[in-house]
Amino acid sequence: MRKPLVAGNWKMNGSRASVTDLLGGIRAGIGEIPKAEVAVCPPFPFLQMTEEALRGSSIAWGAQNLCTEPAGAFTGEVAGSMIREFGCTYVIVGHSERREYYGEDNQVVARKEAMARERGLVPILCVGETLAQREAGITSEVVADQLDAVLELSGVSAFGKTVIAYEPVWAIGTGLTATPEQAQEVHAFIRGRIAEQSADVAAGVRILYGGSMKPDNAADLMAQPDIDGGLIGGASLKPNDFLAICAAA
Ligand code: PGA
Repeated sequence: MRKPLVAGNWKMNGSRASVTDLLGGIRAGIGEIPKAEVAVCPPFPFLQMTEEALRGSSIAWGAQNLCTEPAGAFTGEVAGSMIREFGCTYVIVGHSERREYYGEDNQVVARKEAMARERGLVPILCVGETLAQREAGITSEVVADQLDAVLELSGVSAFGKTVIAYEPVWAIGTGLTATPEQAQEVHAFIRGRIAEQSADVAAGVRILYGGSMKPDNAADLMAQPDIDGGLIGGASLKPNDFLAICAAA
Protein backbone atom coordinates (compact mmCIF):
# COMPACT_ATOMS: atom_id res chain seq x y z
CA MET A 1 0.00 0.00 0.00
CA ARG A 2 2.88 2.39 0.75
CA LYS A 3 5.04 2.73 -2.34
CA PRO A 4 8.69 2.63 -1.25
CA LEU A 5 10.85 5.68 -1.95
CA VAL A 6 14.60 5.58 -2.45
CA ALA A 7 16.06 9.09 -2.40
CA GLY A 8 19.69 10.02 -2.97
CA ASN A 9 21.08 12.80 -0.79
CA TRP A 10 24.13 13.99 -2.67
CA LYS A 11 25.07 16.49 0.05
CA MET A 12 27.73 19.03 -1.00
CA ASN A 13 29.27 16.89 -3.73
CA GLY A 14 29.61 17.16 -7.48
CA SER A 15 30.69 19.31 -10.39
CA ARG A 16 28.99 19.93 -13.73
CA ALA A 17 30.97 17.04 -15.16
CA SER A 18 30.34 14.53 -12.38
CA VAL A 19 26.66 15.47 -12.09
CA THR A 20 26.20 14.93 -15.82
CA ASP A 21 27.76 11.48 -15.51
CA LEU A 22 25.82 10.55 -12.41
CA LEU A 23 22.44 11.63 -13.79
CA GLY A 24 23.16 9.90 -17.08
CA GLY A 25 24.19 6.70 -15.33
CA ILE A 26 21.11 6.62 -13.12
CA ARG A 27 18.72 7.43 -15.94
CA ALA A 28 20.28 4.82 -18.24
CA GLY A 29 20.23 2.13 -15.57
CA ILE A 30 16.86 2.70 -13.96
CA GLY A 31 15.14 0.42 -16.46
CA GLU A 32 12.11 -1.31 -15.12
CA ILE A 33 13.15 -0.94 -11.49
CA PRO A 34 10.49 1.36 -10.20
CA LYS A 35 8.42 -0.81 -8.00
CA ALA A 36 9.85 1.93 -5.85
CA GLU A 37 9.78 5.64 -6.45
CA VAL A 38 13.29 6.97 -7.03
CA ALA A 39 14.55 10.51 -6.42
CA VAL A 40 17.85 12.38 -6.31
CA CYS A 41 18.63 15.51 -4.29
CA PRO A 42 21.60 17.41 -5.77
CA PRO A 43 23.01 20.73 -4.53
CA PHE A 44 21.03 23.82 -5.60
CA PRO A 45 23.29 24.91 -8.50
CA PHE A 46 22.70 21.61 -10.26
CA LEU A 47 18.91 21.59 -10.09
CA GLN A 48 18.48 23.00 -13.57
CA MET A 49 20.81 20.38 -15.09
CA THR A 50 18.95 17.75 -13.12
CA GLU A 51 15.60 18.92 -14.43
CA GLU A 52 16.91 18.84 -18.00
CA ALA A 53 18.48 15.41 -17.57
CA LEU A 54 15.57 13.71 -15.82
CA ARG A 55 12.50 15.32 -17.35
CA GLY A 56 10.31 12.62 -18.89
CA SER A 57 11.97 9.85 -16.85
CA SER A 58 10.50 7.97 -13.90
CA ILE A 59 13.04 9.60 -11.59
CA ALA A 60 12.03 12.55 -9.41
CA TRP A 61 14.36 15.15 -7.92
CA GLY A 62 14.52 17.47 -4.98
CA ALA A 63 16.63 19.92 -3.00
CA GLN A 64 18.42 19.49 0.30
CA ASN A 65 17.19 22.51 2.25
CA LEU A 66 14.97 25.58 1.97
CA CYS A 67 14.41 28.86 3.80
CA THR A 68 11.74 29.20 6.47
CA GLU A 69 10.64 32.46 4.77
CA PRO A 70 8.85 32.86 1.44
CA ALA A 71 11.07 35.58 -0.15
CA GLY A 72 12.95 38.75 0.64
CA ALA A 73 16.06 39.96 2.42
CA PHE A 74 17.60 36.63 3.45
CA THR A 75 21.05 36.68 1.87
CA GLY A 76 22.31 33.28 0.92
CA GLU A 77 18.99 31.50 1.38
CA VAL A 78 16.84 29.68 -1.18
CA ALA A 79 13.04 29.86 -1.18
CA GLY A 80 10.70 26.91 -1.59
CA SER A 81 9.05 28.61 -4.58
CA MET A 82 12.42 28.71 -6.37
CA ILE A 83 13.02 25.05 -5.74
CA ARG A 84 9.56 24.27 -7.03
CA GLU A 85 10.25 26.23 -10.22
CA PHE A 86 13.04 23.81 -11.08
CA GLY A 87 10.62 20.93 -11.08
CA CYS A 88 11.53 19.54 -7.69
CA THR A 89 9.10 17.15 -6.06
CA TYR A 90 10.97 16.80 -2.77
CA VAL A 91 13.04 18.82 -0.34
CA ILE A 92 15.01 17.38 2.55
CA VAL A 93 14.41 19.24 5.82
CA GLY A 94 16.10 18.89 9.19
CA HIS A 95 18.97 16.70 8.09
CA SER A 96 21.21 16.07 11.10
CA GLU A 97 24.04 17.95 9.38
CA ARG A 98 21.78 21.04 9.22
CA ARG A 99 20.80 20.55 12.85
CA GLU A 100 24.38 20.02 14.01
CA TYR A 101 26.41 22.47 11.89
CA TYR A 102 23.83 25.19 11.19
CA GLY A 103 21.96 25.24 14.46
CA GLU A 104 18.55 24.24 13.10
CA ASP A 105 16.42 23.33 16.08
CA ASN A 106 13.13 21.44 16.07
CA GLN A 107 11.09 24.66 15.71
CA VAL A 108 13.07 25.88 12.69
CA VAL A 109 12.79 22.46 11.09
CA ALA A 110 9.04 22.43 11.69
CA ARG A 111 8.74 25.83 9.97
CA LYS A 112 10.72 24.54 7.00
CA GLU A 113 8.52 21.46 6.84
CA ALA A 114 5.44 23.68 6.73
CA MET A 115 6.93 26.07 4.15
CA ALA A 116 7.84 23.16 1.87
CA ARG A 117 4.25 21.89 1.85
CA GLU A 118 2.88 25.40 1.35
CA ARG A 119 5.04 25.68 -1.76
CA GLY A 120 3.88 22.36 -3.18
CA LEU A 121 6.97 20.37 -2.23
CA VAL A 122 7.03 17.08 -0.39
CA PRO A 123 9.30 17.45 2.64
CA ILE A 124 11.58 14.59 3.60
CA LEU A 125 11.73 15.30 7.32
CA CYS A 126 14.84 13.82 8.94
CA VAL A 127 14.81 12.69 12.55
CA GLY A 128 17.23 10.64 14.59
CA GLU A 129 19.37 10.42 17.70
CA THR A 130 23.09 10.85 18.28
CA LEU A 131 25.21 8.05 19.70
CA ALA A 132 25.28 9.77 23.10
CA GLN A 133 21.49 10.00 23.10
CA ARG A 134 21.14 6.32 22.16
CA GLU A 135 23.59 5.31 24.86
CA ALA A 136 21.69 7.43 27.37
CA GLY A 137 18.52 5.52 26.46
CA ILE A 138 16.65 8.59 25.22
CA THR A 139 16.24 7.72 21.53
CA SER A 140 12.43 7.72 21.73
CA GLU A 141 12.30 11.03 23.59
CA VAL A 142 14.57 12.71 21.06
CA VAL A 143 12.63 11.41 18.06
CA ALA A 144 9.31 12.22 19.74
CA ASP A 145 10.40 15.84 20.30
CA GLN A 146 11.46 16.13 16.65
CA LEU A 147 8.07 14.83 15.48
CA ASP A 148 6.06 16.76 18.05
CA ALA A 149 7.44 20.10 16.81
CA VAL A 150 5.77 19.40 13.45
CA LEU A 151 2.61 18.05 15.07
CA GLU A 152 2.32 21.17 17.22
CA LEU A 153 2.92 23.65 14.40
CA SER A 154 1.02 21.94 11.60
CA GLY A 155 -1.11 19.15 13.04
CA VAL A 156 -1.13 15.48 12.15
CA SER A 157 -2.48 16.10 8.65
CA ALA A 158 1.03 17.38 7.75
CA PHE A 159 2.17 13.77 7.75
CA GLY A 160 -0.30 13.00 5.00
CA LYS A 161 1.97 15.04 2.71
CA THR A 162 5.38 14.48 4.25
CA VAL A 163 7.92 11.69 4.11
CA ILE A 164 9.89 10.93 7.27
CA ALA A 165 13.48 9.70 7.24
CA TYR A 166 14.80 8.05 10.37
CA GLU A 167 18.53 8.62 10.33
CA PRO A 168 20.46 7.64 13.44
CA VAL A 169 23.24 10.23 13.49
CA TRP A 170 25.81 7.60 14.51
CA ALA A 171 25.09 5.66 11.32
CA ILE A 172 25.46 8.56 8.85
CA GLY A 173 28.58 8.30 6.76
CA THR A 174 30.22 6.06 9.34
CA GLY A 175 29.70 2.65 7.77
CA LEU A 176 27.85 1.68 10.98
CA THR A 177 24.31 0.73 10.04
CA ALA A 178 21.47 0.23 12.46
CA THR A 179 20.49 -3.43 12.43
CA PRO A 180 17.15 -4.07 10.75
CA GLU A 181 15.71 -4.73 14.23
CA GLN A 182 17.10 -1.51 15.71
CA ALA A 183 15.76 0.50 12.80
CA GLN A 184 12.37 -1.25 12.80
CA GLU A 185 11.96 -0.50 16.51
CA VAL A 186 12.30 3.25 15.93
CA HIS A 187 10.23 3.19 12.74
CA ALA A 188 7.41 1.48 14.62
CA PHE A 189 7.74 4.05 17.40
CA ILE A 190 7.45 6.89 14.86
CA ARG A 191 4.38 5.36 13.22
CA GLY A 192 2.87 4.77 16.65
CA ARG A 193 3.44 8.38 17.67
CA ILE A 194 1.53 9.57 14.62
CA ALA A 195 -1.15 6.92 15.12
CA GLU A 196 -1.92 8.43 18.53
CA GLN A 197 -3.42 11.31 16.53
CA SER A 198 -4.57 9.59 13.35
CA ALA A 199 -4.46 5.90 12.49
CA ASP A 200 -5.10 6.67 8.83
CA VAL A 201 -2.28 9.16 8.49
CA ALA A 202 0.06 6.79 10.34
CA ALA A 203 -0.81 3.92 8.04
CA GLY A 204 -0.04 5.98 4.96
CA VAL A 205 3.10 7.89 5.92
CA ARG A 206 6.32 6.65 4.37
CA ILE A 207 9.22 6.28 6.78
CA LEU A 208 12.62 5.89 5.14
CA TYR A 209 15.75 4.61 6.81
CA GLY A 210 19.02 6.47 6.30
CA GLY A 211 22.53 5.88 7.58
CA SER A 212 25.09 3.85 5.65
CA MET A 213 22.48 2.05 3.58
CA LYS A 214 24.38 0.09 0.92
CA PRO A 215 23.54 -2.55 -1.68
CA ASP A 216 24.45 -5.34 0.77
CA ASN A 217 22.21 -4.23 3.64
CA ALA A 218 19.36 -2.48 1.81
CA ALA A 219 17.13 -5.50 1.23
CA ASP A 220 17.18 -6.60 4.88
CA LEU A 221 16.42 -3.12 6.12
CA MET A 222 13.64 -2.50 3.63
CA ALA A 223 12.07 -5.89 4.37
CA GLN A 224 11.07 -4.58 7.80
CA PRO A 225 7.37 -3.84 8.04
CA ASP A 226 7.72 -0.15 8.90
CA ILE A 227 10.68 0.69 6.63
CA ASP A 228 9.39 2.17 3.39
CA GLY A 229 12.61 2.91 1.55
CA GLY A 230 15.87 4.73 2.11
CA LEU A 231 17.60 8.09 2.17
CA ILE A 232 21.00 7.32 0.71
CA GLY A 233 24.09 9.48 1.11
CA GLY A 234 27.46 8.05 0.08
CA ALA A 235 26.08 5.20 -1.99
CA SER A 236 23.89 7.58 -4.02
CA LEU A 237 27.01 9.04 -5.65
CA LYS A 238 27.78 5.75 -7.40
CA PRO A 239 25.18 4.88 -10.05
CA ASN A 240 25.59 1.13 -9.68
CA ASP A 241 25.29 1.17 -5.91
CA PHE A 242 22.32 3.53 -5.99
CA LEU A 243 20.55 1.45 -8.64
CA ALA A 244 21.21 -1.73 -6.67
CA ILE A 245 19.56 -0.16 -3.62
CA CYS A 246 16.60 0.95 -5.75
CA ALA A 247 16.27 -2.60 -7.03
CA ALA A 248 16.24 -3.92 -3.46
CA ALA A 249 13.28 -1.72 -2.50
P1 PGA B 1 25.01 7.94 4.32
O1 PGA B 1 24.17 9.30 4.51
O2 PGA B 1 24.20 7.01 3.47
O3 PGA B 1 26.29 8.38 3.65
O4 PGA B 1 25.26 7.38 5.68
C1 PGA B 1 22.77 9.27 4.66
C2 PGA B 1 22.27 10.67 4.87
O5 PGA B 1 22.95 11.48 5.54
O6 PGA B 1 21.19 11.05 4.37
